[in-house]
Amino acid sequence: MLFNKICIKIRLGSVVMSRNKWDIAIIGAGTSGIFAAYELTDKNPSLKIIMLEQGNDIYNRICPSVNRRSTDYSKDCMNCKTCSIMRGFGGAGAFSDGKYNFTTEFGGWLNEYISDDEVMNLINYVDSINVKFGATLERHSTYTDEARFIEKKALENDLHLLKAYVKHLGTENNYNILKKLYEHLSAKIDIFCNTAVKNILPSDGKYELELENGNKVECTYLVVAPGRSGAEWFSNQCRKLGLNLINNQVDIGVRIELPAQIFEHITDVVYEAKLLYRTKQYGDIVRTFCMNPYGYVVSENVDGIITVNGHSYTDPALRSENTNFALLVSNKFTKPFNEPYLYGKRIASLSNMLGGGVLVQRFGDLVKGVRTNEHRLSQSFTKPTLNATPGDLSLVLTKRHLDNIIEMIYALDKIAPGTANYDTLLYGVEVKFYSARLELTSELETKLPNMFAIGDGAGITRGLSQASASGVHVARKILERI
Ligand SMILES: Cc1cc2nc3c(=O)[nH]c(=O)nc-3n(C[C@H](O)[C@H](O)[C@H](O)COP(=O)(O)OP(=O)(O)OC[C@H]3O[C@@H](n4cnc5c(N)ncnc54)[C@H](O)[C@@H]3O)c2cc1C
Repeated sequence: MLFNKICIKIRLGSVVMSRNKWDIAIIGAGTSGIFAAYELTDKNPSLKIIMLEQGNDIYNRICPSVNRRSTDYSKDCMNCKTCSIMRGFGGAGAFSDGKYNFTTEFGGWLNEYISDDEVMNLINYVDSINVKFGATLERHSTYTDEARFIEKKALENDLHLLKAYVKHLGTENNYNILKKLYEHLSAKIDIFCNTAVKNILPSDGKYELELENGNKVECTYLVVAPGRSGAEWFSNQCRKLGLNLINNQVDIGVRIELPAQIFEHITDVVYEAKLLYRTKQYGDIVRTFCMNPYGYVVSENVDGIITVNGHSYTDPALRSENTNFALLVSNKFTKPFNEPYLYGKRIASLSNMLGGGVLVQRFGDLVKGVRTNEHRLSQSFTKPTLNATPGDLSLVLTKRHLDNIIEMIYALDKIAPGTANYDTLLYGVEVKFYSARLELTSELETKLPNMFAIGDGAGITRGLSQASASGVHVARKILERI
């Protein structure tokens, strides 16, 4: 087989070699790919590993609309070709709040492949590596007496608090940990950023990767870790490779922003409350997600569609006066529809069409049926941390989504009075895309031998801890074979 030679400087003493063959190729330098690489090199330093990442390296990942070294969030999304929030070394987690959850109750479905105990061991193992690279030792928990009181109060109002330990790494610390991991790994493996993989081609029991830049890479073991941002690309690859995809869900909703005092009695205790509620009207589950005390609302760009997200810093000097969290409604589709990803994108694109990006509306205006405009927003007691376009979310979200969200806000108001205030801000649309799930073995191997899929892009995780755990799990399985 003929390969275009990629001229690569690899660190073998002072020797410079050109290479187009590696033992293992990892597509994607998000947390799952990083921890796969970490485990592989840690346990077998002689392996030749290449990591291919579409986005920038950690130093050049700068979102022009979020200056992470200050609290200036005033600029709009610049529609960069490669979104630095979603892509680049560190993956979607690089500018994230870094909430590291110790649980199998949420954050993915890894425990459908391996036992709960094994998943927890992997999550704890990844945490120990994070600590080695600078993570805090402090954990919040829903198992304390104070948390049990919150749980009881929630239950009295038909809200269900999920149990977990959580570490808040903090946006700035998360970034520093990743920087150290980058330096650690780049001394041991070949990391190519700004290098997108175009096609995966099985070839003579190995894999050939066709890169966007025209080069080719050959490997014996392939670990695909493309995250949510690479989900559409990966689904298309799987179809071409004849790999079965299982229909998955899409979660659609809004991000709520309100004065931090309203949730302080909860966030001071558990930091993040994952609350589930089944609406009376539709029987749909609505959940709180990604709670950011004293945080900031941010926009993110998924394949050209601007959606909303949030984060917060650990440094008190960088805090805002608001808390934000998502309210998400899960949509699981049945036959014949099998493109939940596209459905989510279409809904989000409506807010982009109307507002040029993310829309923001006051809760009171939404309930009253009027648009929030510049003037009304300027009267709001809750000051937005994101410069979104004031608008009308009822022109974007379906009636079912809106009814569910409104019912949930009134339910939350009972345990956190003030949630349903007129000036509570709703940003839309927040969409959690999950990749179609691949059929995988308990080793997370696809039907194609030695091709593994991990993390959010494989549709099996949706959070830092389980995504990282899946990377370590696959690394160990490959090490057993080698
Ligand atoms: C703003 C934000 C905040 C978040 N906050 C939290 C949080 O506090 N706690 C938590 O648990 N989770 C959080 N998450 C989710 C968490 O970041 C993800 O679950 C996690 O990053 C998934 O890891 P991954 O490795 O599977 O994928 P990703 O981190 O998405 O990484 C995949 C990488 O693959 C690259 N890629 C894709 N396709 C290709 C290709 N064809 N060629 C080369 N490279 C490719 C992408 O550029 C990307 O860098 C947050 C996400 C976002 C966006």
